[in-house]
Amino acid sequence: MQAAGSTFTKRVSIAIHDKRLQAALAHASGGFVHKRAQQVAALPEFEALRERARDVKEHVLTNLDGYLERYEEQVTRQGGQVHWAATAEDARRIILEICRKADAKTVTKGKSMVSEEIGLNQALEAAGYEVVETDLGEYIIQLAKEPPSHIIVPAVHKTRQQVGDLFDLHHRPLGYTKHLTEVGEMVDEARQVLREHYFRADVGITGGNFLVAETGSSIIVTNEGNGDLTQTLARVHIVTSGIERVVPTLDDAVTFLRLLARSATGQEITSYVTLSTGPRRDDDLDGPQEYHVVLVDNGRSKMLGGPFREMLRCIRCGACLNHCPVYSSIGGHAYGWVYPGPMGSVLTPLINGLSAAYDLPNACTLNGRCQTVCPVKIPLPGLLRELRRQQFESGLTPAPIRLALRTWAALARRPRLYHLTMRIGVALLSLFGRRRGALAWLPLAGGWTDSRDLPAAQGRTFQQAWSARKGARP
Ligand code: SF4
Repeated sequence: MQAAGSTFTKRVSIAIHDKRLQAALAHASGGFVHKRAQQVAALPEFEALRERARDVKEHVLTNLDGYLERYEEQVTRQGGQVHWAATAEDARRIILEICRKADAKTVTKGKSMVSEEIGLNQALEAAGYEVVETDLGEYIIQLAKEPPSHIIVPAVHKTRQQVGDLFDLHHRPLGYTKHLTEVGEMVDEARQVLREHYFRADVGITGGNFLVAETGSSIIVTNEGNGDLTQTLARVHIVTSGIERVVPTLDDAVTFLRLLARSATGQEITSYVTLSTGPRRDDDLDGPQEYHVVLVDNGRSKMLGGPFREMLRCIRCGACLNHCPVYSSIGGHAYGWVYPGPMGSVLTPLINGLSAAYDLPNACTLNGRCQTVCPVKIPLPGLLRELRRQQFESGLTPAPIRLALRTWAALARRPRLYHLTMRIGVALLSLFGRRRGALAWLPLAGGWTDSRDLPAAQGRTFQQAWSARKGARP
């Protein structure tokens, strides 16, 4: 269902022929799928947790204004400041202003998909700040000047060899001359390089996995401890988060924490779970002098009252990416936007427009694995179908596809005609493909037959086979 020759189609074609990318994807997502399955099997209440998480999120979305106000009150009471950003542009402007007032030169960053969404790095660099990503994956792709290809493992598409080459290029001028081939050595070297930046940083920017209305705390989860150093060593800590990330209480946050790491990386819990509540107090040994939270709307409140409201339950665990056969085949960059995979195929058209991201909802096979593993039970295939419907209604669907869908709909409303057409079609397909068992070419099906043969029909329609099977049952 892709527009022929679209840039999306070209990116997909490049990705599926990229052997290094295919090897990296097979290695990474297979591991996550297996580990998640083990964790789920070991936790009898996993399903009950999913239901509770879904209910808490729904309750929050129904009362979002109240919980956000409560959160702001608590942040203010703890000595911090909340900033409201209606758009990505507002968010960039607010953060640049905080950096300017802090007379900052260097900004360190923990992993934050919202900062990718609002294009923060580009804005900071254009304003002359030195920006250093401190999450190892983010650091690698920053060196490679690439966007993340996965929401929790941004450098999943990079092989060890590629990372070694990148470190050669960027670390040699800093005095690190050994070519590295082992992951442990690379982590050590990155740690040493990043340590210098932590101490020089004026502003530390992190995301917020959860914002607790009860206490005014923001919570981040990491496996490297980089978030802690980013937010405690800089003079100013800025949290960037979507407005939907608020949860009522610390107890509720624990429900989500129990689901997040299991769904994301197949861990019981991440190595670090860090709560920040305001700037440092007089008797604190460390911590930032200023604590800011930038709450980003950027289209979220519009989703709240519409058919895509359930997407606001997303906790960005990445399980839907790991289990998606399309993502596993093409990786994140082929999608062409910040959020890839099933969640990105829903979110991107909502943030950037149905037309701009036309291809994404149509690139899904609707197999449903994403919904099965989503820890907050988002009906992703249903939302993708709704996006397709809206694209169709808006006249964005290409004419040949509209014609095919209209024809199919007309037939589906007339069962006799439908069965007759199917029988004729199947008879023709089996006649032409009988000799080879497959068809190498079929009119209007070039998207399939260009790269593989279409298995020939076996002589009966599904309805005929089904009726025969039912009749054969006792
Ligand atoms: S849609 Fe569900 S599975 Fe996908 S990232 Fe969001 S919470 Fe995780």
